[in-house]
Amino acid sequence: MNMRNISDKKRIVIKLGTSTLAHSTGKLNIRRMTNLVRVISDLHNSGKEIIMVSSGAVGLGTGKLGLSKRPKDTKLKQAVAAVGQCELMHVYDDMFEKYSVTVAQILLTKTIINNPNHCENFKNTIETLVGMGVIPIVNENDSISIDELELEIGENDSLSALVASLSGADLLLILSDIDGLYSDDPHKNPDAEPISVVEEITPEIERIAGGAGSGLGTGGMSTKINAAKIASEAGIDMVIMNGKNPELLYDLFENKDIGTIFVAPKSQ
Ligand code: GLU
Repeated sequence: MNMRNISDKKRIVIKLGTSTLAHSTGKLNIRRMTNLVRVISDLHNSGKEIIMVSSGAVGLGTGKLGLSKRPKDTKLKQAVAAVGQCELMHVYDDMFEKYSVTVAQILLTKTIINNPNHCENFKNTIETLVGMGVIPIVNENDSISIDELELEIGENDSLSALVASLSGADLLLILSDIDGLYSDDPHKNPDAEPISVVEEITPEIERIAGGAGSGLGTGGMSTKINAAKIASEAGIDMVIMNGKNPELLYDLFENKDIGTIFVAPKSQ
C-alpha cells in the first residue's frame, strides 16, 4: 500500500514556523512568504480546505521593535507578541488578497483548549470559515498565555496538532527549516540519512529526534515528534518538510517522496 496517499487529503492544517517566515533578523522573509502564499492560495483554489497555524508573533515583533534578540522577560515577550501578531496578520491579509483569498485570525490558549464550550466554539468557527472559503490562521494568544506557570502551550508544533485534531483535518503539514527526520542530526553528522516514512513512533525515533531548534523559533525536532503523537492519536497523518522551497508542496500532493510522513495507525 502506498503510504503517501497525500493527493486524497482534503482538509490540511499547514504549520509555518518562525524560521520559515522570517530571516534570522526577525524581519519578514519576503521571497519565501510570497512563494508560500502563492502556492497555498493555489492549493486552496484546487479545492483543498486549508487551515494555517502560523508562528511569528514574537519573531516579527522582535524585528519590528528593533530588538537585538528574542526577549526572555515575560512581560516584554507578551508585549512584543502583541506587536508581532498584528504585523503577521497584516502581512498575510495583504499577501493573500492578491489571490482574492480571505484569511481570518484565531488566537488560542491552553485554557480555551481545555474548556469544552470554548473548544466547541473554536470548531464551529473553523467549520464556518472553511465553509465560506476562508483560510483561518491560528496562533497561540501569546500576549495572554505566555507565563511562567506552564499555562501556555508554548510551541506551535503541538498547537498545530491540537488544531488538526479539533478541526477534523486529514493531514498535518509542518513546514520547517529541515527537510524531514534524519537517522541522526544532519547538522552534525554528514552521513545522516533522511527517513521517508515513520509507521510507529518508537523510542528509537524519539532518540534520534532529540535536540532543540534553531534561531528565532522555539521548536526543534522533539516538539515535532510530540505533534506527531497527538496527530497519530487523532488518526491524522503528519508530514514534516522544508518550507524553503514552497513549490515542493505541489510534488508532495502528487504523492512524491518529500519530507517525512508519520503515518497514523487509523489510516494505515
Ligand atoms: N506563538 C509563538 C509566536 O507566534 C511561536 C511559538 C513557536 O515558535 O512554536 O511567536
